[in-house]
Formats: sequence, C-alpha cells, structure tokens
Amino acid sequence: MAIATKDYGLFIAGESVEAEEIRELAEPATGAALGRAAMASPEDVDRAVEAARAALEGPWAKTPPNERSRLIHALADAIVANRKELTELETRNVGKAVTSVKGEVAVSAEYFRWYASAIATIAGRAVPMGGSVLTYTLKEPVGVVAQIVPWNYPFMMTSWKLAPALAAGCTVVLKPDPATPLSALRLAELAVEVGIPPGVINVVPGDGPTTGSHLVTHRGVDKVAFTGSTRTGSEIMRLCAEPVKRVSLELGGKSPNIFFADADLDAAIPSSVYAVYYAAGQSCDARSRVFVEKPLYDEVVSRFSETASRMKMGDPLDEETQMGSLISQAHREKVHGFVEAGLEEGVELVTGGHPLDGDGAFYPATVLANVDNTMSVAQEEIFGPVVSVIPFEDEAEAVKLANDVQYGLVATVWTGDPARGHRLARQIKAGTIGINCPNTAFPGLPFGGYKQSGFGRENALETLEMYLETKSVLTWTGAKPVNPWGL
Ligand code: NAD
Repeated sequence: MAIATKDYGLFIAGESVEAEEIRELAEPATGAALGRAAMASPEDVDRAVEAARAALEGPWAKTPPNERSRLIHALADAIVANRKELTELETRNVGKAVTSVKGEVAVSAEYFRWYASAIATIAGRAVPMGGSVLTYTLKEPVGVVAQIVPWNYPFMMTSWKLAPALAAGCTVVLKPDPATPLSALRLAELAVEVGIPPGVINVVPGDGPTTGSHLVTHRGVDKVAFTGSTRTGSEIMRLCAEPVKRVSLELGGKSPNIFFADADLDAAIPSSVYAVYYAAGQSCDARSRVFVEKPLYDEVVSRFSETASRMKMGDPLDEETQMGSLISQAHREKVHGFVEAGLEEGVELVTGGHPLDGDGAFYPATVLANVDNTMSVAQEEIFGPVVSVIPFEDEAEAVKLANDVQYGLVATVWTGDPARGHRLARQIKAGTIGINCPNTAFPGLPFGGYKQSGFGRENALETLEMYLETKSVLTWTGAKPVNPWGL
C-alpha cells in the first residue's frame, strides 16, 4: 500500500507497506519532526524473508551476471541522479555535517560500480587431478542474506553491504537502525525503479532484540552480515551458532594514531583531527588514541587541541559546518559519561568536554591529555568526539601500546622514516594501516577487523567470497571408478 510523504513504510517485495508500529523520527540537530517510520514486527520480517526467497529462486536466479552488473550500474547512476535528496534525507536523519554526507553518498555509488565490475571475477575453476577424473568448481550465491546496519553511516553501510550481496546473486533483508531507516528505504525504492526485481532488496527497520534477532534466527535466512557494536556482534554470533548460519561481523574500534618525532606535523595534525572528529567521532575507524613520542608530546597536545577547538560546529545542512550533532541526547550523555569518568581517573581536559546548550545533541571536539593506556577513556569505544593523547618512549613501546586493546580495526602511523612505517604495518594487529595517510576505506580495498573488531572483509574481492558457496563437481571420464571394496 502506498504511503504519504513523510510517512515511511517498510519495503517488502518491491512495495512500501504499512506496519502496526509507527515511530516518530526527529532531527537530532534540532529536535524538529522528521517523519513517521514503520517498524517491522516478526510477521513483517517473515513476509520479507519470503519475498527474498521468492526473488532468489525466481527472477534473480534467472538474471545472468552481465545483466546483474548492468542493474547494479543503473542503481549507482540512480544514486548519483538522486544525490541531493539522499544527502538531505541522511543529513537530517543523522545530524552529521552535510559536506561529509555528500562524500558518503557519492562514494557509495562508486562501491556499487566497483562490485558491478567485480562480477566478472566470479568464476569456478577446473582442478587438475590427473588420470581420468574431471573436476570443476561452481560458485553459487549463498542465498537469502540478513544484513544489519548501524546508525552512524546508514547510507554508506547499507551500500557496503548490498553491493557485494547483489553482485554475488544473493537477495537481502536489510534491517537498519530504527532511528535511521530513511536513506536505506529510498535506496530500495530506487533499486526497483531501475529494474532490480521486487524482493531482491527488502528493508525492515526495527529494534535489535525483537526485529533484529527474529531476522537473524529466521530459518529462511542463510547468512547474516552485521555491522555494529562488539557486544551485539557477539550476541549475533551466538544466535548463529546453533543453526550453523554463516556470519560476518564488522564491529567496534579504538584505533591508534602514532606520531613519531620525525613526523611532518603540518600534515599529521590536521589529518589526525579529521581522522577522529569526522562524523563527530561516531566512526568505527575513529583514531581516538593518539600516541606521541615524548619529545613531541606537549607540542602535539597544544597544536592538536588548537586545531580541534577551531572546528566549526553547527547546523548540519550548512556547507561551512565541519561537525554536526551526535545521533541523540541519550548518546551524548553516554559520551559525556566517559569524559567524566576520565576526569575522575585524573586525565587533563585540554579542550571541549561539556555538552552544548540548545535543542540539538551537540558535543564539542574534546582532547584529553595525561591519559594512561589502561584507563577507560583509552580502552573503551566512546563513539563521540573525544581523543586521548598518550606519550611513548620508543618504537617498541608504541607498538605495545597500540596493540594493548581488545580491538584491531585500523591504525595510522606518522613518521619521516618509510621503513619504520612498513615495520609497524606488520607489527600492529589491525585490518588497515595508514602510513602518513588518514584514509581507511576505498572501493576495492579490504576493510575489516582483527581481534574483537570482527572478521570478514568488506569492499573488496574477499567480500564476494562471504556471499558465495563453492561447490566441487567431479566425474570419471575414462576407466571404471574404483573403490576400496573393488565393487
Ligand atoms: P549496535 O550494535 O547497538 O546496533 C547495530 C545494529 O544492530 C542496529 O541496527 C541494531 O538495531 C541491531 N541490533 C541490536 N541488537 C540486535 C540483536 N540482538 N539482533 C539483531 N540485531 C540487533 O551498534 P550501534 O551503536 O548502532 O553502532 C555503533 C557501532 O557500530 C560501533 O561499535 C561502531 O564501531 C560499529 N561500526 C563498525 C563498522 C565497521 O565497519 N567495523 C562500521 C560502522 C560502525
């Protein structure tokens, strides 16, 4: 059933459908009403899984790879054509700076394009056996996939998840966070508009413990791909254990950013400010632990704080804004709670550290100095604009401190010595290492975690393997088959 503007239904079998539960959404930056979104019940999830199964075994199975590739390119074109609408929707829904969201929407189209081309790499192989055995392998889609994404990059995380699944020939039931379902719903509509068959992409917003766990445990779901916190990821892995469901997890981080005394600070400081405060620190790859070789410590603390305090915070839709609001007042309280705990443990507050007055969930760029790596502010994922600056003596200690954390998502090293950069790249236990480079994700480059940051890789050829089964086929072409019984 069609719904009116500002009312957002579930998206099942190519249609926007109503649900019993409707939730009011508000803009986190202003508190203004944003719309009413339907939340999926377990029965709605059942209908979405059925639709995904029907599409998997029906039209999508009959769509040859070159046609899948064309459709994925067409979806990328539709993202570009609708980028203004998608950017505004996402900016209002998440509260992040529009300049950031613009980039996220643009690069999301590129992820689809990259996978549209990567379809050409999906192929089995003949395995030489000698004698008269002929063998080959087939690559088949893993089936119906449940994809669960968080609120921090709703559109980009949805794109990271959907693109490889579509390329592999899977169908999807995607569960966005209940607070940020809008851009995923619009993307699913665009997919149908460009000709991707109804039922290939279904979107069922709802709460984790109800809608999410029903989806994860559904017998019609063959694989679960999750992005979110380590705590939820661990619960999802437990839910997938009993039915031996395929699962991949992209989880949290507490990533190090290491400044050696020979670093080019003019490049390192602004890049590192960007690397932690991008999306107001609500990024899995936020470099929130800054380690500084002792002779540079005071200079880095002072220049980092000075740059951070100049960041322009305000209306997310203003092109001048560098940092928007946090996702909600409740999340801001959580972030501030970490800062207060740090202050009780004796850290020094250099800049920021206080919630701002007004309706929005704004929290300033915050720098904590004199932090010990064992403190909660250095060990736990704050998921807000808070950085801990920690001194180190030498290279060995830098590596030890960087690795001394439960996470292993990304790390950045700033040094004038390229050999040292590559040495650390091998010694740091993380999925992505930047040497004099704050960026972490590009289409084609594997992204994912060591340790409790999860397993599986996104954005790359490795990802396709997570959405494919490999089947071995063999036959005798000559002499009679033999077996130990001589039969
Ligand atoms: P979260 O774990 O609370 O929620 C993530 C998603 O899981 C939401 O859609 C939520 O509704 C759902 N969920 C919660 N409980 C569930 C359950 N029992 N069964 C099924 N689904 C359930 O995480 P969050 O706070 O929304 O997101 C922030 C986290 O995501 C951070 O830890 C961040 O580091 C991580 N993250 C990781 C990556 C990455 O690529 N590694 C990218 C973005 C965010």
